[in-house]
Amino acid sequence: MDFLQPTSLRAALEAKAERPDALPIAGGTDVMVELNFDRGRPPAILDLTRVAELADWDRDGGGCRVGAGVTYTRTIEELAAALPGLALAARTVGSPQIRNRGTIGGNLGSASPAGDCHPPLLATGAEVELVSLAATRRLPVQEFFTGPKQSALRPDELIAAVHLPAAGGPQQFAKIGTRNAMVIAVCSFALALDPERRRVGTGIGSAGPTPLRAGDAERFLAGVLDEEGLWESRAPLGEAAAARFGELVAAAASPIDDVRGSAAYRVHALGVLGRRTLAWAWDEYRNRRS
Ligand SMILES: Cc1cc2nc3c(=O)[nH]c(=O)nc-3n(C[C@H](O)[C@H](O)[C@H](O)COP(=O)(O)OP(=O)(O)OC[C@H]3O[C@@H](n4cnc5c(N)ncnc54)[C@H](O)[C@@H]3O)c2cc1C
Repeated sequence: MDFLQPTSLRAALEAKAERPDALPIAGGTDVMVELNFDRGRPPAILDLTRVAELADWDRDGGGCRVGAGVTYTRTIEELAAALPGLALAARTVGSPQIRNRGTIGGNLGSASPAGDCHPPLLATGAEVELVSLAATRRLPVQEFFTGPKQSALRPDELIAAVHLPAAGGPQQFAKIGTRNAMVIAVCSFALALDPERRRVGTGIGSAGPTPLRAGDAERFLAGVLDEEGLWESRAPLGEAAAARFGELVAAAASPIDDVRGSAAYRVHALGVLGRRTLAWAWDEYRNRRS
């Protein structure tokens, strides 16, 4: 197996153009599991850990551009205020060792329906920046996922970064697992409320062939908040509306039975997570000063 170790993004892209069969490796927390279990033997490995351009994050207009090589630990330590939903999700990943190595770009690269970054990226309307020698393109994150562990990434492309708007309001993430740590989600849910844009965003994990948005739930809740003037009044949200929101979140899922849980349990749990995260987020919004 060839081992390619570029030290700049340009050199990494040249290597990928020349060897589209080279498998990128960042933290290696997915790639090494696959190799250790002998699930595949790529002809070449493209190590991205020395590519400084991938390893940082920046302010980007009103939001953030998070390099593909930014780890979970840095997301938690440096981005919790700007990107609370993503940081909440990062806190639930693996163990400290996995969070020190594992990257946002690696989570996207694996494109698992259970990846914990995906629901907050969907809920906030993030975009994935894909780069090749020929071009740079930005895709809304929901267009990036094309099937179970499949993405729109082309063989000559790398994931450069993900772009997220700054949090204009409360964001929440909740995950169900068989224990509190080191667990792949049975299902997960992220919610982002943006009072300025009057936007409700959602993301569902581990309950469909790809991570999903609950579009009907988003439209329903945005309608209730607008029609009842709740963005302005910050009055309590009615129980019926919260319950309906939960039902619509559950209805958006299309899970399967697998070793981690049954489809029926996932649908039920998502209804609960939808209601629960909405209650947390609305409480936070009501208690905010600005
Ligand atoms: C013990 C353990 C616990 C875990 N717990 C969780 C968990 O709780 N939640 C969760 O979501 N995941 C979990 N994972 C999975 C894994 O840690 C994450 O998916 C992580 O984000 C992968 O990042 P990485 O940098 O290690 O990726 P790598 O393993 O280096 O790469 C993963 C994939 O992404 C591709 N890739 C990486 N970077 C790029 C790039 N810049 N451009 C293009 N392709 C790229 C690789 O080719 C590969 O296909 C766990 C893994 C282990 C071993």
